[in-house]
Amino acid sequence: MKQFSYVRASSPEDAVQRAIAHQESQFIAGGTNLVDRLKAFLDNPSELIDVSRLGLKEIETMPDGSIRIGAMVSNTAVANHHQIREHYPLLSRAILSGASQQIRNVATVGGNLLQRTRCPYYYDTAFACNKRQPESGCAARHGINRMHAILGASEKCIAVHPSDMCVALAALDAVVEVQGANGQRQIPFTEFHRLPGNTPQWDSNLEPGALITAVILPPNPAAKTGIYLKLRDRTSYAFALVSVAAMVAVEGDAIHHARLALGGVAHKPWRSLETESFLEGKTAASETFEQAAEIALQQAQPLSHNHFKVSMAQRAIKRAFTISAQGGSTA
Ligand code: SF4
Repeated sequence: MKQFSYVRASSPEDAVQRAIAHQESQFIAGGTNLVDRLKAFLDNPSELIDVSRLGLKEIETMPDGSIRIGAMVSNTAVANHHQIREHYPLLSRAILSGASQQIRNVATVGGNLLQRTRCPYYYDTAFACNKRQPESGCAARHGINRMHAILGASEKCIAVHPSDMCVALAALDAVVEVQGANGQRQIPFTEFHRLPGNTPQWDSNLEPGALITAVILPPNPAAKTGIYLKLRDRTSYAFALVSVAAMVAVEGDAIHHARLALGGVAHKPWRSLETESFLEGKTAASETFEQAAEIALQQAQPLSHNHFKVSMAQRAIKRAFTISAQGGSTA
């Protein structure tokens, strides 16, 4: 194993300066994915910069009514926070559907955004993987690809993003607050993660050395009706085959606000803007939601082992919109 040093950053600015000065360093907070990758020799940092003691552990209501969640808040604390449960229940449900209680207790919001794919070929160095070793090939494309992408994949990589939380954040129009070399900036959630293209080694659009400091949830009254459905092989501690974060706001019979994001289907949380604009102004009815589900999957390109994901996603979308139109569910 390659030797590495360990330091504790004293502030977000200090963390960023250290990361820029040591190009092969990495941040560590909860470590729930990074430690796995270190043990598998996938990551070989020269230095680990501990960012877990920088504060960044507050969940605050801002003057404009948005909720600012510090990047070091644990997944458990977010899921159980009274305002999240009341105003953004789909986020709470998404988090509680992921990992295990023990992992959620130490996993952080920032780390959740930056976790890497669980493609088994990425974790097994006996196989070719463009994400691990650029231009080496993709063993999953002709391997067992049941868990892989049906939307937005490339010849280079067909991996999916593993997060549940991020699917809900995409549907909620969240914003990622980042500390970089040139100060703070905000990145719309849908622009934070990348599709694989020709450079699957890059999962996000974070510049080198930048640190996530918070995630901001804008006010959204419709979010109270939001639904998160996760379909998986077993009912706990399993990644999604397909997941759906959906909401509609209905006045009379007409839909005036719709959001849809999918998980388990693409290299990033997959927001379907086409589906949302189709729904605006339509009647909230079974046939409408069926058409919406077809639109959401019309670009799907299933692989040899995952054709089932298309109809699975369509049924889940229809169900999620139907429940949301009825006012949502706390189940
Ligand atoms: Fe690697 Fe992506 Fe292919 Fe998996 S799908 S083996 S992560 S290149």
